[in-house]
Amino acid sequence: MPAERIINGVVFMVFRLKLFSMDLKTGMPYWLIKNGLPGHYPKLNEDLKTEVVIIGGGISGALAAYHLSKRGVSCVVLDRRTIGLGSTCASTSLVQYELDRTLYELSSLFGEHKAAQVYVEAVEAVHKLDDICEELKFKNKERCPSLYFADKKSNVTLLQKEYAMRKKAGIDVSLLEDSEIRNRFGFSAPGAIESATGLSIDVYMLCHALCNASLKQGAKVYDRTEVIKTEGKNKFKIYTDTGFTVSCNYLVNAGGYEAGKNLKGIVKLCSTYAIASEHFEDPSQLWPNRAMLWNTAKPYLYLRQTPDNRVIIGGRDELFYQAERRDDLIKRKSKLLEADFYKIFPDLNFKSEFSWAGTFGVTKDSLPYIGSLKGNPRVYYSLGYGGNGILFSLTSAEIISDAITGKKNNSAELYSFYR
Ligand SMILES: Cc1cc2nc3c(=O)[nH]c(=O)nc-3n(C[C@H](O)[C@H](O)[C@H](O)COP(=O)(O)OP(=O)(O)OC[C@H]3O[C@@H](n4cnc5c(N)ncnc54)[C@H](O)[C@@H]3O)c2cc1C
Repeated sequence: MPAERIINGVVFMVFRLKLFSMDLKTGMPYWLIKNGLPGHYPKLNEDLKTEVVIIGGGISGALAAYHLSKRGVSCVVLDRRTIGLGSTCASTSLVQYELDRTLYELSSLFGEHKAAQVYVEAVEAVHKLDDICEELKFKNKERCPSLYFADKKSNVTLLQKEYAMRKKAGIDVSLLEDSEIRNRFGFSAPGAIESATGLSIDVYMLCHALCNASLKQGAKVYDRTEVIKTEGKNKFKIYTDTGFTVSCNYLVNAGGYEAGKNLKGIVKLCSTYAIASEHFEDPSQLWPNRAMLWNTAKPYLYLRQTPDNRVIIGGRDELFYQAERRDDLIKRKSKLLEADFYKIFPDLNFKSEFSWAGTFGVTKDSLPYIGSLKGNPRVYYSLGYGGNGILFSLTSAEIISDAITGKKNNSAELYSFYR
């Protein structure tokens, strides 16, 4: 019988790692179409010994491998798919410090001080991710502002409260009225918060760049190699479907939404949709600074531009996860997203070229789950669920590599399973 623990009403199965496979995305994710398969990694074809095994070669596993190998810790990444072909290749790749829950909402859950710490650290994480891109000479990224705009007049008061709290926390924000939004961004909204900090990237390519950098730092990366069984508590033996094993002292589970299925009650799986337009011949028609735009609607709508002057729009989320049902809706959702675009920019000619759907997960407070479960301190989870998955992959890589190398991390508690 597996041991069962109840923490804050959440049931955890411990000492057992059940390994699920899911259908994570369908359609034509833009970054995957654009980049194809940029890297080749072998299947595991020998028995290995290492310090850390990382399950998952998406952005979470890639950042963990990069951090660990940079500190001289030997690690092996194993992914059942080709590297990056989980949720990472479906991402629209906006890196924002602004979470699914506003600072105002988060304050009512955790108190103002703690909530501000989360937001301020998220701002720092955007800068740190940009620094890593610089270190790697990774060009597919761009710093850009973000504009959080009211979808209706009644949400302006919320924006004002949110603005005041962010300002108090020391975050670089401005409150804009309709006339200013119209003058500067070319569309109309009753109000908006403009943030200086944001990063739009190509996370699929960043994942590959991190895997390559980790290889150079001594890590090993294997794909099309599924972890089918794990054994042990202080030392582990990892069994794979290629018939080979890896022995290690620590396990990092960066298995994305498939990893979360093992942990009851922490994540609600949903479906989300995105479309990418044809490129705009005249990019000066588009709003300036390639700002990321998103609104106060629930679920929210978001827009970004790409370096080749396309517009990506995402949203129209559904509160279910059933791949077939999700995929049946792609056509309809694409039309709705296109209509959403025209409501904001009625004079632009938007022609959708690629559309796709993916699974994503939300947590009760919009924060990720990072760290280990009681009784199993050498198994770390890197579960950056929610709309800020990319950002939290970095937070998670830092917390986990600090834990493994014995360094104190003051943020660890904020994201622990026991927060
Ligand atoms: C349409 C869409 C838009 C999004 N937009 C944004 C956005 O704009 N900004 C943002 O921050 N986030 C966004 N996200 C979320 C973001 O994409 C994810 O948070 C992120 O990609 C998760 O990365 P990951 O490495 O944790 O998971 P994944 O990329 O899914 O990687 C996990 C890997 O683990 C492997 N794995 C699992 N189990 C096993 C096993 N037993 N053995 C071996 N391998 C295993 C899987 O094959 C997979 O490749 C979006 C998601 C979707 C679907």
